Amino acid sequence: MIRRYLRSLLCIALSPAIAQAQAAASPTAPTPPLTAIRAGQLIDVEAGRVLANQVILVSGTKISAVGTDLKIPAGAAVIDMSDMTVLPGLVDCHTHLADLADPEPLNYLKYTAAQLAFMAIPNPRLTLLAGFTTVRDVGVYRAFNDVAMRDAIAQGLIIGPRMYVAGAYITISEGAGAMGGLAPDIQLPLDLRYGESNSPWEVRQRIREIAHHGADHIKVLSTGAVLTHGSLPKSIEFTPEELRAAVEEAANFGLRVAAHAHDPVGIKNAIRAGVASVEHATLIDDEGIALAKQHGTYLDMDIYDEECIQSNPTEPADFLEHDRGLGEAQRQNFRKAVRAGVKMTFGTDAGVCPHGINARQFAFMVKYGMSPMQAIQAATVNAADLIGHSELFGSITAGKSADIIAVHGDPLADIRTLESVSFVMKEGKVYKQ
Ligand SMILES: [Zn+2]
Repeated sequence: MIRRYLRSLLCIALSPAIAQAQAAASPTAPTPPLTAIRAGQLIDVEAGRVLANQVILVSGTKISAVGTDLKIPAGAAVIDMSDMTVLPGLVDCHTHLADLADPEPLNYLKYTAAQLAFMAIPNPRLTLLAGFTTVRDVGVYRAFNDVAMRDAIAQGLIIGPRMYVAGAYITISEGAGAMGGLAPDIQLPLDLRYGESNSPWEVRQRIREIAHHGADHIKVLSTGAVLTHGSLPKSIEFTPEELRAAVEEAANFGLRVAAHAHDPVGIKNAIRAGVASVEHATLIDDEGIALAKQHGTYLDMDIYDEECIQSNPTEPADFLEHDRGLGEAQRQNFRKAVRAGVKMTFGTDAGVCPHGINARQFAFMVKYGMSPMQAIQAATVNAADLIGHSELFGSITAGKSADIIAVHGDPLADIRTLESVSFVMKEGKVYKQ
């Protein structure tokens, strides 16, 4: 073990020098594979316009050039999508890929952490093949199963989108992110209650540990939840002091905070504390909308999943009771927020609905007030900005990762074309054609 560690240290120390020497010595140093994509229509999400007859050059994992009159280099593989609309890979800012798509949280107690990890393997594949090349995953019951999944995808062990993960839920005991519904004398293993914290200093301690174990952002539960036993969506869970501690401590590690909140006071507590996004934002009021706009806080509103909650025959009765009236209220508040010009991202809470149907939310975002271009921007440029990696993804621009999808038809005329994506490339590799 120690020898392997030393060897890996040596490799890290020597590898740039070796690579330079090899490149200088060998005239046949490998050049990255070149691909040229012909795009009949290309959606320029940064400018909010459509460009005709574009060529996208992909070199290895990156986009090297985009334009009308680009010369296609000899030897480049050509992908002809002259009759299709090409877009940047989509981004879902609210998924739960490392969990089961089972509405009953207590069913998690039937499986070991390893079983859950293997059972979740299809989720990222379904998500990627639906055109989502990046996700911001916002919590998992078994702490750090999401970190393991992110790393397995990055290493090519399993197929899925680029993942940014939360590690665990920062929640009060018996709160929205806890495994509620157990008898009081049942003690859960640590990874099923990892993020439970009940004071500003406990919040800080948990965040320090979660950051140390590889999370990309922090998920806090500001109010109660719909889909948790014993937690009410209209109750305030964390106090303003605890939320401020979360944002400050996360920032110490360079991490942003996503806050789950349904109740209007819990939403405003989170915005005032400085979170990057409010998840659900179900009952946001006019003051909350004004505050979000003033603070530049993103709202990540999952306005489709009501369809799945209400139609799932196995949805626990108390969850349906929590949910009563919230679905339509959230959709009307979404419309108000769009009209007010609040920054919005695309987030579905995938896992509530089955993985892979994420794009069904687009039609609802358009129905409730967005233009098709705004809905696409929410799932591309805006999402990249919220995650903090606009340099890497979110648009088809030279220098960014070659995350590219295509559909037949025109999504600006019929947004539902995004529900059947025909072509998916992530980091220059084609996963669906
Ligand atoms: Zn969620």
